[in-house]
Amino acid sequence: AIAEADVIVFVVDGTIGVTPADEAVAEVLRRSRKPLLVAVNKTDDPSRTAQTAEFFRLGLEAEILPVSAYHGTGTGDLLDAIVDRLPAAAEAEAGALGEAEAGTAGGAEAEIPGGAEAEIAGEAETSPGPPIRVAVVGRPNVGKSSLVNAFLGEERVIVADEPGTTRDAIDVPFTRDGVGYVLIDTAGLRKKAKVKGSVERYSILRTLRAVDRCDVVLLLVDATQPLTEQDKRVAGYATEAGRAMVLVVNKWDIVEKDDKTYLAYEGHLRRGLHYADWAPIVFTSAKTGKNLVRVLEAVVSVAANHRKRVSTPEVNRVFRDAVGMNPPPAEGRRRVRIGYVTQASAAPPTFVFFVNDAKLLHFSYQRYLENRLRQSFGFDGTPICLVFRTRRES
Ligand code: GDP
Repeated sequence: AIAEADVIVFVVDGTIGVTPADEAVAEVLRRSRKPLLVAVNKTDDPSRTAQTAEFFRLGLEAEILPVSAYHGTGTGDLLDAIVDRLPAAAEAEAGALGEAEAGTAGGAEAEIPGGAEAEIAGEAETSPGPPIRVAVVGRPNVGKSSLVNAFLGEERVIVADEPGTTRDAIDVPFTRDGVGYVLIDTAGLRKKAKVKGSVERYSILRTLRAVDRCDVVLLLVDATQPLTEQDKRVAGYATEAGRAMVLVVNKWDIVEKDDKTYLAYEGHLRRGLHYADWAPIVFTSAKTGKNLVRVLEAVVSVAANHRKRVSTPEVNRVFRDAVGMNPPPAEGRRRVRIGYVTQASAAPPTFVFFVNDAKLLHFSYQRYLENRLRQSFGFDGTPICLVFRTRRES
């Protein structure tokens, strides 16, 4: 939250004064160098305003304001103070693109040469379409940072291991072969998050948030290890969220291989992630660089499928053929009749089928229709969504 914020409001409890937890938070905030306000809450009684003075002890470069969330006193002044510190709209937009705000990133400049940035911005202007937003996810040590660094080139390594290096450059844009990409939340790839207590939980939540914000999930798994429950959960979440996905089997360089190894690992992945059987698999080594080009090719291809739109006549033609070849089975005395189909939206492609009674349509028949759509239109790498609407016939 700190890394993504433009202004931070640190809320403390005026009735108990400075706590050790406040001091710990203050330490983190000091390093963030973000515009900061301290709101001393529960200052209900004007005579208690003196309590606010105690919070100067935190040694923060911040205005300290008494407020009462309960009574609303002081909240207008707090809001004014927040607004005063917000960046101008244009600046905020640049910030959302990642490192463009290197000037305020406190230390990021050293590792991100301005020249490279300018070049990237220039290329991005000529690239067609919006950039593809990519979330690189997977278990710790699977090679996420190595992969990202390989994409960005050594001179733009954004992943550091020292405390306090969480920086503003969360989403990092880059361009390859005229295609624009944005890597989502690279700060979340820092190897050892300095969050004591619940590192694991924190990193899972962060992963899910990155998935929420991306177009394409790159799920890295370790070729030397079996699939884990967490991999399955993340893949399931990405599928439910309607994200495109590429499965990347990393560290392939250190696997002892014969001619069956590849198929065996593929089979293992397909069984474990059967609900995402549409996701392409790429075997890579982030260390040697092998097949990294294929990863980006797969990203481009699945992103295009994810955004694809099919015209209503085309989809109806395919669907009439499908029903002609294999009509829906009758349920008792009633037979399902499907009137027509239309693609209601993209990303992920979503098709609405108008039927006489949606309840009659078996799951297996839905799967059949989905497969036909996939075969006809090539939706590799993206989930597709089929919606069945009951529409009474006159
Ligand atoms: P992260 O925690 O997912 O970001 O993983 P890292 O990128 O930090 O990698 C963890 C370790 O695995 C490091 O020692 C890397 O050098 C190593 N590693 C990453 N990718 C590969 C690979 O493809 N092959 C081999 N042999 N080692 C790798």
